[in-house]
Amino acid sequence: MTATPRPLVAGNWKMNGLRAQRAEFEVMVKDAPGLSGVLDLLVCPPATLLADFAVAARGSRIAIGAQDCHAKASGAYTGDISAEMIADCGATFVIVGHSERRTLHQENDATVNAKTRAAWRAGLTAVVCIGETQQQREAGATLEVVGAQLKGSIPTGATAERLVVAYEPVWAIGTGLTPTTEDVEEVHASIRLFLRETLADEGEAIRILYGGSVKPANAGELLGVANVNGALVGGASLKADDFFAIARAYS
Ligand code: PEP
Repeated sequence: MTATPRPLVAGNWKMNGLRAQRAEFEVMVKDAPGLSGVLDLLVCPPATLLADFAVAARGSRIAIGAQDCHAKASGAYTGDISAEMIADCGATFVIVGHSERRTLHQENDATVNAKTRAAWRAGLTAVVCIGETQQQREAGATLEVVGAQLKGSIPTGATAERLVVAYEPVWAIGTGLTPTTEDVEEVHASIRLFLRETLADEGEAIRILYGGSVKPANAGELLGVANVNGALVGGASLKADDFFAIARAYS
């Protein structure tokens, strides 16, 4: 029998945060022991703060992740950061395929697949993001789109240790809009089915996060949906109070 995945509440700071925000992160590190023991916490700051936050988080229950990586380990790729560099900073996770990368940097499933393999090569856990646009939802194509993204973005050899899937409807990110709990349940059930069919028992253990306008006010409802094993939080992860109010949905 496979155990229910342990929830993960992850914060994606995006391109927000200067060194002064280390103080806010230190509040998180200090307050984290007060949260329920049955969840994991992850903060993904901008690359400039990665090493600093990894030092601040040392010995705490907060893991540190990057927001993107290059597929290659090193080379002439000006401005890019490899998974090995991320691991070298002391981080253990990396988000790949966030919709902002897919849209603003033309990343497709093949790119995301290569970046996920790079993350694994460096010993990182990849948080692979998928999700439909408003237009695709209105066309009734959500499950088809998400299914194709899963198939294309996840390499063979996935395990619960090194893969987290984040379902983030593009139209819900940063907009204050969220799908109904029925819609979330339907998509998460289809993701679980895909994982189970491709990975058997291991697919049961992989965490599936919901992301898109998760706030303290709606966290209880969204995180209570079947097959939702945590949240990927953007805006509300920048403040310790809001981020932990979301995490307290698990207390
Ligand atoms: C995100 O960027 O992954 C996200 C879910 O953002 P927000 O919570 O702000 O909608």
